[in-house]
Amino acid sequence: MTIGILGGGQLGYMLALAGYPLGFHFRFLDPSPEAPVGRIAHRVTADYIDEAALERFAHGLQVATYEFENVPVQAARFLAERVPVYPSTAALEEAQDRLREKRLFQRLGIPTTEFAEIENVEEFDRAVARLGLPSILKTRRMGYDGKGQSLLQTKEDVEAVRRGLPAEPLILEKFVPFTREVSILGVRSTKGEVAFYPLIENHHREGILRLSLAPAPDLSPELQKLAEEAARSVLETLDYAGVLCIEFFEVDGKLLANEMAPRVHNSGHWSIEGAVTSQFENHLRAILGLPLGATDELECSAMLNLIEELPEPAPVLTVKNAHLHLYGKEPRPGRKVGHVTVCAETFEELRERMKQLPAFFYRPEFCLDEVLPEKLARQA
Ligand code: AMP
Repeated sequence: MTIGILGGGQLGYMLALAGYPLGFHFRFLDPSPEAPVGRIAHRVTADYIDEAALERFAHGLQVATYEFENVPVQAARFLAERVPVYPSTAALEEAQDRLREKRLFQRLGIPTTEFAEIENVEEFDRAVARLGLPSILKTRRMGYDGKGQSLLQTKEDVEAVRRGLPAEPLILEKFVPFTREVSILGVRSTKGEVAFYPLIENHHREGILRLSLAPAPDLSPELQKLAEEAARSVLETLDYAGVLCIEFFEVDGKLLANEMAPRVHNSGHWSIEGAVTSQFENHLRAILGLPLGATDELECSAMLNLIEELPEPAPVLTVKNAHLHLYGKEPRPGRKVGHVTVCAETFEELRERMKQLPAFFYRPEFCLDEVLPEKLARQA
């Protein structure tokens, strides 16, 4: 059985690694001849909207999915006429546009950040007057890892942004003074079976995820329930199949939805070693209508993203229950090139293990100082 995946980055790579033990084969489509999956699977190198390539790609596939949410919807539609595609193109469309996403949250009664739609300078002025400062201007489309975002804190920031206002649809969001950022991974199969992973605590720098702790420390059943209810209503409303991630800001014990991703997610990488069934395996089970695997955590996990640069492997591998994942990508500024997951039975033990990580990880961007009380990150 061959599964087709649009996008050939690390998420696709890990989907394939999770699928091989189940006997699946994989075929990828990605415009880049350097896409990491080339090392482990059949890769078609072509533009997403190249219909002849899509036709070849679709031939003989059992099912298709994506690992990159900015795949052009027309490509997904073209493919869906030839082979079942999950999550549906409707879900892809909702998640590609921050405005539609926020309106979906509102329709479903899921609290979200205050926002305003902006198409021109007049709307920008009105939005700033209504929402006040600080606020964040974001492009509605193609934004990820903090790309296409400007933080407006002062009148000068507003003036500077106003002068160079991008000629594309935008959204202004009120800045949320959150206690922490959390995300939930929900999974729904084509048979309607639904499961949720425990909430994850996420730490970002420059808009990029750096560190995730799973389950989120001090997680209350109420918070987990709020997140599950939100995810369940999105999954059911969109008749969704596959893994869905919703990212939230936690404020005063409540959750405000920030955005969603219609795919496996970086904040779920811990589940490879830290959960009974990984998000990758469950995504495959879900789109094939197989029974879902248990989503319980096995231990406490910390996942650290490796961005731009890789550590020497040996000192990482000497730490007990530390797992190094390298994606085979050329290091470039801001690029995710791998991750490390450390697991332990308790958070106390996990913190002790994280302290054994080499000095490479003590830089501020790994956010270890935010989770280790003794400010380990400054000790190096
Ligand atoms: P996003 O691309 O929307 O996930 O934004 C990337 C990161 O920027 C988030 O994970 C937050 O750390 C920060 N951020 C985005 N929107 C807001 C907001 N409205 N208030 C506060 N922080 C935000």
